[in-house]
Amino acid sequence: MASKMKFDPRKLMEKAIAVMKQSINEPRTDKKASPLVGAVLVKPDGTVDTAFRGELRHGDHAEYTLLERKHRDERLDGAFLFATLEPCAPGARKHPKLACAERIVNARIAEVWVGIEDPDPRWTGRASGIWSRTA
Ligand SMILES: [Zn+2]
Repeated sequence: MASKMKFDPRKLMEKAIAVMKQSINEPRTDKKASPLVGAVLVKPDGTVDTAFRGELRHGDHAEYTLLERKHRDERLDGAFLFATLEPCAPGARKHPKLACAERIVNARIAEVWVGIEDPDPRWTGRASGIWSRTA
């Protein structure tokens, strides 16, 4: 059953952007900068929680932090997720890690709002391709 949206998606994406700015740049051997990412979860009961990259542990993705570390034991069917960057797609993480896109499907999130697609051409739009299976 689809949830009725009782919130302003623009405000929630702005909240995700504000949270994104707290992202923690982890030490990397390749010296590349880590992307800043913020995520907002609107739970089925209407309560809202947020996460940013590296919030609880270096390198943890914002969506992973929200779904697996903060709300793992909760039913999230019908929840909404806002992410400033397209969640990582299946195959993007080293085996046996699950991609955030797969975690989002497993959590039965009703709708995902993405700020920008992954700018890495290997992954651009790849996560979006699996959302239709969550309905
Ligand atoms: Zn991810």
